[in-house]
Amino acid sequence: MTCPITNLAKQLISIPSISPMDLGCQKIISDRLINSGFSIEYMNYGSTNNIWAYRGKGTTLAFSGHTDVVPSGKYENWKFPPFVPTIYNGYLFGRGSADMKGAIAAMIIAIEQFVKQYPNHIGRLAILITSDEEAKAIHGTKKIVENLIKNKETIDYCVVGEPSSVKSLGDVIKNGRRGSLTAHLSIYGKQGHIAYPHLADNPIHNVLSFLVRLISINWDPGDAFFPPTSLQIYKIQSGINNSNNIIPDRLLVKFNLRFGSLTTIDIIKSRVQSLLIDCNLKYSIKWKLSGKPFITKSGLLISVVQNVIQDVCGITPKLLTTGGTSDGRFIAELGSQILELGLVNKTIHQSNECVKISDLKLLSYIYKCIIEKLLLAN
Ligand SMILES: [Zn+2]
Repeated sequence: MTCPITNLAKQLISIPSISPMDLGCQKIISDRLINSGFSIEYMNYGSTNNIWAYRGKGTTLAFSGHTDVVPSGKYENWKFPPFVPTIYNGYLFGRGSADMKGAIAAMIIAIEQFVKQYPNHIGRLAILITSDEEAKAIHGTKKIVENLIKNKETIDYCVVGEPSSVKSLGDVIKNGRRGSLTAHLSIYGKQGHIAYPHLADNPIHNVLSFLVRLISINWDPGDAFFPPTSLQIYKIQSGINNSNNIIPDRLLVKFNLRFGSLTTIDIIKSRVQSLLIDCNLKYSIKWKLSGKPFITKSGLLISVVQNVIQDVCGITPKLLTTGGTSDGRFIAELGSQILELGLVNKTIHQSNECVKISDLKLLSYIYKCIIEKLLLAN
């Protein structure tokens, strides 16, 4: 006999909703929420499906999740077919089991049980679900939040169901994420014959001292919430048609910074620019911001979640801001207290992605306790 959480997770995993396709996952979710008395707003953009669902009035606790998954990779690397959810040895296998259809199932069952037990609950319970988190994330939570801001909606507390746990369920919760800023830098020189370098200007030679200085910058030491800001060069490209006798006229460098709250976007841009000028380079630079840093330093949400995990799992969760960006960066625009709490992330985006079935049940119970503490207490 499988439990309702596992059943729902299996139902969702069997749909190959590779980002940004939803392929009906959200229909299953919204049908259940409607049954529990939720109002649903559908916010679809291009091939992305989004839902914003809510029940009740007042102080709002929202859950956030995504129904899209990353591609499975080679089928032969999987013990069981990635879109045929399979239970083996106490684990549920399948693409999205940990990231994050399992957590969505845990949320939905927690919400259903809560509503059944407290049909006249105080406050508003909400959920926002997108199918565009894993890839571009342009039509997903970003759009939902834009709509919420336009409609003057507020979210007081938000629990993002991303797989935050590392070794055991609840050992890590994320109370923020670093910002991510990418630069595409072009360095210009003058093309010429390699045998006549005095008639050319080699951008490869010119950029070297700049790059050494760029990677040697100590941006900041980090603080209580964020690790030190780091910069990584991930692409350098130059040369003309593989030719071994031409000095090229340009070079492209791409680099990315992960930054906390001590180093602002303006500081980064101006330090890079002064260094370019100092190194006498002819350049142009384009910046792309994927997300500003966000942090929930303290507040009721953190204390409630920490206490619930302590009670249910008997451990004190670590608060971390490591890892890539998350949809929390968009929700942060609403000024909400935000935490990420989800399943163990050991196998996410890998072949043989899986979760412990007992963790699914435990997570759902934790989510329900969080709802009770936040909505029944006010
Ligand atoms: Zn995810």
